[in-house]
Amino acid sequence: MRVFKFGGASVKDPEAVKNVGAILSLYEGEKIIVVVSAMGKTTNKLEEILSCLLANEHLKFHQLINDLQAYHHDILGELFREKHFKIFQVVDQIFDGLRHLSQEKISDKLGFEYDQIVSLGELISSHIVHEYLIEMGFRSSWLDARKIIRTDTNYQEANVDWEKTKELISKSIEPAFIGSNILVTQGFIGHSSDGSTTTLGREGSDYSAGIIAYCCEAENVTIWKDVPGMLNADPKYFQNTRKLDKISFKEAMELSYYGASVIHPKTIKPLQNKNITLFVKSFIEPLGAGTEIQSETKDDGLIASFIIKQEQVLFSIIPKDFSFIDEQNLHGIFELLAKEQIKINLMQNSALSFSILVDAKKVSIPKLLSVLKNTFNVKYNDNLELVTIRHYNSETIESICKDKIVIIEQKTRHTARFVLKAKA
Ligand code: ASP
Ligand code: MG
Repeated sequence: MRVFKFGGASVKDPEAVKNVGAILSLYEGEKIIVVVSAMGKTTNKLEEILSCLLANEHLKFHQLINDLQAYHHDILGELFREKHFKIFQVVDQIFDGLRHLSQEKISDKLGFEYDQIVSLGELISSHIVHEYLIEMGFRSSWLDARKIIRTDTNYQEANVDWEKTKELISKSIEPAFIGSNILVTQGFIGHSSDGSTTTLGREGSDYSAGIIAYCCEAENVTIWKDVPGMLNADPKYFQNTRKLDKISFKEAMELSYYGASVIHPKTIKPLQNKNITLFVKSFIEPLGAGTEIQSETKDDGLIASFIIKQEQVLFSIIPKDFSFIDEQNLHGIFELLAKEQIKINLMQNSALSFSILVDAKKVSIPKLLSVLKNTFNVKYNDNLELVTIRHYNSETIESICKDKIVIIEQKTRHTARFVLKAKA
């Protein structure tokens, strides 16, 4: 059995949904679990809808729902010529339920409310894809991820209960395949023991595919993307990108840790644990080989990879009493940073100063300065760029650092990292 994951871009319009059918027909007769994301930018729209609901902006709330419904109707209209198909009702009912929320009292458990609303995108898309496949003559069944993926109640970033999920999945997958060879389910969503819907964190559909594959010991997983595979750099910043043909789980983990955004970082672990190969392939050229991610490490060093994080701020934290950056000071600093939920991209220390690099968008500079100011002097340097090179050599370093000021440089055997500032 295979697990396929189709992200938002691969189901963003009628042609894209039809293409899902075309890809599945290449695998005729095979058992496939299809994990789908919400269509296009639906998740962002649902987040906006929630914000309007919380801010009592009723007019905008209804307007946004109407727009999102119209977007899905356009897709439905192209996929199903007859308006009497029950899929129109299924989708409309979900939107009616959403509208109805404006008449209900919203609880103060924001994470809970978020998950009940934002999960709807995947429900809608999975219903549409499933019905379309049925229309095209596939033997498809719709599977509710809220019945098979069990999590805790850490809403918006729920943690999987692996034991329970395994039990639920092994109970439901086999019967679902009776009479069907395709099961369409939702990425990103699960449920807690009290039955409420939870979500696994933004972009979490890849992870869902990994969870499902792990629990039913799938042969392999394919993530279908709009790129030919995992590239060695983001084409947004680099002209001559190259595809990584074959890399190890370990390498994929390292790349996603440093910020390569092709695969959700949590996806690799369950696949590695069960030695399930992960393919990243192009939904535009589905016959291409894509990238194969598996246990063998021998090809990892063939191509250097570059990961860029822009808009970085470097904070230098200096004890006011001229004490060393020792375990005691570090303990205090980390406690404060953890409390402020600061995510550190890189750190470094000297005798008297501890430096951390953080995404500018994820930190409030005044807030951080104020929580540290009693014990520390803090300086910061913004508009920086963090470049990580895996499998570097002197040329790749030269190509990255030329015409830039190097503020920090860190190297291990396989990884070089540079904090860079543009020359004035
Ligand atoms: N639809 C969700 C998101 O946009 C999950 C996903 O696409 O992976 O974050
Ligand atoms: Mg997505």
